[in-house]
Amino acid sequence: MILKYDMDEASERVIENARLGNVCYCVPFDVDRTGKFTNGYFVITDKNVASIDKGEVVFVFPIDRITKAESCELVGGGRLEIRAGDEYYVAAEFSAEHMPVFAMMERIIGEYVEGESVVHESFDESKKCPKCGRRYLKNTNICPHCSDRLGTAKRLAHLAAPCKNLYIIILLLFWASSGVMLISPVIQKHMINDAIINPEGTIGVLLLCVVLTALCNMASTGISIAQKVVSTKASNLLVRDLRQAVYAKLQGMGISKLEGKKTGDMMQRINHDTSRIGNFIQNTAITAINEIILFIGVGIILFAYNWKMALLILLPIPFVIVIVNKMRHEVRRRFRTARRREDKMTSKLNDILNGMRVVKAFGQEDRAIEEFRTVAGEVREQSESNEKFAAVLWPTVRFLVGFGSYLILMYGGSLVVDAKLTLGELMQFSTYASYIYNRLDWFSNLPKNLSEAATSAQRVFEVLDEEQGALTENETKPAIGGDVKFNNVTFGYKSYQSVVKNFTLDVKKGEMIGLVGHSGAGKSTVINLLMRLYDVDEGEILIDGMNIRSIDSMYYKHNLGIVLQESYLFAGSIMSNICYAKPDATADDVIRAAKIANAHDFIMRLPNGYDTYVGEKGYRLSGGERQRIAIARAVISDPKILILDEATASVDTETEAQIQQALGRLIKGRTTFAIAHRLSTLKNANRLVVLEEGRIAEVGTHNELMEKDGIYASLVRAQRTMNAISFNADAGGKGRGPGGPGGPGGPGGPGGPPGPPPM
Ligand code: ADP
Repeated sequence: MILKYDMDEASERVIENARLGNVCYCVPFDVDRTGKFTNGYFVITDKNVASIDKGEVVFVFPIDRITKAESCELVGGGRLEIRAGDEYYVAAEFSAEHMPVFAMMERIIGEYVEGESVVHESFDESKKCPKCGRRYLKNTNICPHCSDRLGTAKRLAHLAAPCKNLYIIILLLFWASSGVMLISPVIQKHMINDAIINPEGTIGVLLLCVVLTALCNMASTGISIAQKVVSTKASNLLVRDLRQAVYAKLQGMGISKLEGKKTGDMMQRINHDTSRIGNFIQNTAITAINEIILFIGVGIILFAYNWKMALLILLPIPFVIVIVNKMRHEVRRRFRTARRREDKMTSKLNDILNGMRVVKAFGQEDRAIEEFRTVAGEVREQSESNEKFAAVLWPTVRFLVGFGSYLILMYGGSLVVDAKLTLGELMQFSTYASYIYNRLDWFSNLPKNLSEAATSAQRVFEVLDEEQGALTENETKPAIGGDVKFNNVTFGYKSYQSVVKNFTLDVKKGEMIGLVGHSGAGKSTVINLLMRLYDVDEGEILIDGMNIRSIDSMYYKHNLGIVLQESYLFAGSIMSNICYAKPDATADDVIRAAKIANAHDFIMRLPNGYDTYVGEKGYRLSGGERQRIAIARAVISDPKILILDEATASVDTETEAQIQQALGRLIKGRTTFAIAHRLSTLKNANRLVVLEEGRIAEVGTHNELMEKDGIYASLVRAQRTMNAISFNADAGGKGRGPGGPGGPGGPGGPGGPPGPPPM
């Protein structure tokens, strides 16, 4: 991120004339007060913060009067707000790409306000190649210009190495087919010279030549079938290995890494790019060796035969090379544009399909159709333009390459007329010449095929080369008791924005901690850190006194039980879903877990009991049923640490009672961290930890915190009011009150009779 841009001279003069002070930081913003795009600068000087746009100071405020700066995210962009007590101003507006830099401005001003003087180093995060300044390919760090193609080819060769026997067979077959190809014109020559135009020629010689030609064709057909079979096998094996490697890599990646990736793009890399590499290996890479050998071999034969006629073949080639070279960049550019548009279409499709419920819920089908029509139209436009371009370029190139054949006919024909060459020899020469043209035609497609395959290979290798994203240190597998300690933990999803700050909490084995706070306070983030989906930026998390990073992460996760708000069930039987975390669990284990989770009875009522198929195309379970299966899934591996993240948020109060009862059994003897929107569900917690803007604001039991009359008490009151409103609405509308558990310290309880409004 560059924090001190070079301004244009006019803006520098404006700052000087307005005596704004010495510029310490200067960053561009791109939206003006009317919402139009512009090229302005936001500056922090030693005296002021200011915005300069179109040679004018459009905003200025003394830095020592500022009490707070806030960079707010809006739709497609954001703005920097400056506050001084009750006064409030918008300092600059910008598009989404400037969000990080303005978050940094917020931090710098914040530090100034707190009296700190911090020098931030400039760093450049732009997605451009540091070597040549060209843009990277979309969603990648690949520079199309500077990428190491030879290195990529070597890696592919290395990956293909396990199938080297197959490649040797393919090569042998190629040589056999090349031999047959070279013999055919010789037979043709004899057929013409000795049988057709020779007055002494006999039908026997003609028949022999025809039979030999037919045998050559048969052999050639047989060899090409065998080649196809073996090369398909070799390329499919490579594609399979590549797909497995990319998939395994994605599975091993930390969530932070995965979050930056688009599903559509990753699917393209696993499906499309790998099969393009396979096609390249099958149809181009293996053939290349043969084509080159044949080209050189036939060239030598032709030059040895008649070097003057051979030169005629090559005469147009220099012109063709110049033309093709000139067009190469255009071909690449077009290919990349087409590729980018296809990616965009796939991502859009993926996005819309995933968000179908939201699209339908908001009645936005027409908009979704229109959005897709736009991206699909872009793809069509580009592919039509590319097809037209190719339809003109390649036939023209082919005609130019083949122009030498007319010269041969002219010159060779005159030699035949002068009886310096026989007709059979001219035909043989022409056939060999056609081999050369076919090879040249093949070579003309090589840049396109190479470019496509190299880009695909780099996109695949980029995933394979990525760092895992979750840190590991000497990993061990200690017995896990359940003591958890957060030591001064600080963490942010973005490097410049901490979400959890100096979080310190000592939790003893078997304790239940309820995490409470406003939405966005950082509760889920604390849980995410405990689940080791992310690693802390500062501080440490200790499990039984051991740094979480030093524990084998798979082993650690086996000791965690997790029940989330929306429990995802995989396509498969209920049985397989329950024992997902413990594949070796017996049927008895599964039933025991289901009973603890209050799930056994409803499972037995399903059409196929535990074998009922659930998931996308399977039996549709209700939210409460899914939750109970999730609880059974958490119970089965007997976890020492439990995480309940809004586990009862998406179920009705009646089901909630059953789930609460199940959770009550589940948490017994386990260290539990629970987040619940309905505070009443945290009544069993030994301690409630109240978070405010990522920091611990209050800790205590329900009664202690109510007495304290702080944030927690106000949250409880707000919820009571809400519940009273909904209670009255329900009572008025339906003539009955809500059932379910009562609030902490209040009447009602899990599975108990319906009480008054909770809390
Ligand atoms: P809570 O659970 O208390 O509602 P969260 O821990 O989910 O709060 O979020 C805390 C802050 O972190 C919020 O400002 C939220 O926008 C941000 N945040 C949460 N998840 C991510 C993420 N994956 N990437 C970036 N920011 C995130």
